[in-house]
Amino acid sequence: MEKVELLIIGAGVVGLAIAAELSKQFEDRSLILLERHSKFGQETSSRNSEVIHAGIYYPTGSLKAKLCVEGNRRLYQFCQEWKIPHERIGKLIIARNESEIPVLESILVQGRSNGVTDLEMLDQDQLTKLEPNIRAVAAVNSPSTGIIDSHQLMLRLEWLALEQGAVIAYRHEVVGVDFKGSGYEVTYRNPAGQLESIHCRWLINCAGLNSDQIVSFLGINLDDIGYRIYPCKGEYFSVSNSKSALVSRLIYPPPLKELKGLGIHATKSLDGRLRFGPNAIYSETLDYDVNEDHAQEFYNAVNTYMPFLKSTDFLPDMAGIRPKIQAPGDPFRDFIVCHETERGFEGLINLIGIESPGLTSSLSLAEMVKDLIS
Ligand SMILES: Cc1cc2nc3c(=O)[nH]c(=O)nc-3n(C[C@H](O)[C@H](O)[C@H](O)COP(=O)(O)OP(=O)(O)OC[C@H]3O[C@@H](n4cnc5c(N)ncnc54)[C@H](O)[C@@H]3O)c2cc1C
Repeated sequence: MEKVELLIIGAGVVGLAIAAELSKQFEDRSLILLERHSKFGQETSSRNSEVIHAGIYYPTGSLKAKLCVEGNRRLYQFCQEWKIPHERIGKLIIARNESEIPVLESILVQGRSNGVTDLEMLDQDQLTKLEPNIRAVAAVNSPSTGIIDSHQLMLRLEWLALEQGAVIAYRHEVVGVDFKGSGYEVTYRNPAGQLESIHCRWLINCAGLNSDQIVSFLGINLDDIGYRIYPCKGEYFSVSNSKSALVSRLIYPPPLKELKGLGIHATKSLDGRLRFGPNAIYSETLDYDVNEDHAQEFYNAVNTYMPFLKSTDFLPDMAGIRPKIQAPGDPFRDFIVCHETERGFEGLINLIGIESPGLTSSLSLAEMVKDLIS
C-alpha cells in the first residue's frame, strides 16, 4: 500500500491553504490532498459573499474572533504579495432606527475587544456623506472589511502547494478511514470508480459539509461530541447595474440573535455588482437552487434602508450552504480545530463547522494546523 506522511481531505479554501502552508515543510510527494470533485472549490468556498471580514461580532477569545482578526491581516498581505484581486472597500453596520443604536455600541465594544482597532461610530451626517442613498440614523464604520476574488485565491494556493511538492488528486472521494495505531488507512474511490487505500501518518479532515461523515468513519458518535453538521442554506439575490452603482460599500444591519447569521445584507462584488444575502434556511437536502418566491422576503429586509429598490428589482443569484454545528435554536458555536489525541486518535486533526468567517480565516487556520503538528 502507498504511504504518505500527511493526507488532507478536501480542496476547499481551507484544505488548499493547509496544503500550501505544510508543503513547505514536508518532502516532495509526502503530502497528498484528496478531493472528490474534478476541480478545487466546487462547494462552500465558491458559494459565499467573498468578504474579508474584520472579526467584529464573535465572542472575544473564540477561534472565530482570533483567526478572523489575524486572517484578515494575513489575507491582505497575501493578496498584495501574489496580486490576488481584492479591494478594501469598507463596511457600514447600520442602525435603522434609534432603538438599534445601543446594538451598534455593543458591536463597537465587541469589535475593539477582539482587536479590531479601526472601528468608528458615525452619526447620520457622517454616514450620509459616505453613502447618500442609505437611510439610517447611525453606523459603525469598518474600513478594514473588504472583498476578494476567492477563485484567484484558491488558484494561487493550489499553485503554491504543487510548486512545493504536494500531490493533489481530484476525483478521489474518501469513503472510509481506519485507525491503525500509528496512522490511518484511508480508502478512496479513484476516477475509474475503483476502491484503493493509502496509509498516512497525519490525517487532516477539511471536508466541509462532509467533515462529520469523515469522523463517523472512525466509529465516533457525532452527537456525543457535538460534531454533527446541520447544513444551513443561504440564498442571494442581485439587482441591476444602475441600482448597484448607488451604493459603494458593504451595508449590514445588526446581526441575528446567537449569530445564526449576519442578517440579509448588501455586498458588492469586485465587478461592482450589488448582491443581497444570505438568508438562513436549515435543510438536510443539499441543493443550490434559489427560490424566486423569496424575493419579497429580501425586499422586506432591505427596503427600509435602501428606499431606491423595488420588489421587482430582486433577481435570483446563487446559494451556498453553511456547514453549521450550531443546530437550530442552539447558542453560538465556535470553529472546531482539534488534534484528537484525547479521544485516542493521535495524528488526526479535525476542522469542523468552518462556516463564516472561514474564507477570511483560511490562512490563519493553516498556521494553526501547522502549530498543532509541530
Ligand atoms: C452563504 C455563505 C456565505 C459566506 N460568506 C463568507 C464571507 O463573506 N467571508 C468569509 O470569510 N467566509 C464566508 N463564508 C464561509 C466560507 O465560505 C467557508 O468557511 C469556507 O469556504 C470553508 O472552506 P472549506 O475548505 O472548509 O470547505 P469547502 O469549500 O466546503 O471544501 C470542502 C471540500 O471537501 C470536499 N470533500 C467533502 N467530502 C469529501 C470526501 N469524502 N472525499 C474527498 N473530498 C471531499 C468537497 O468536495 C469540498 O471541495 C460563507 C459561507 C456561506 C455558506
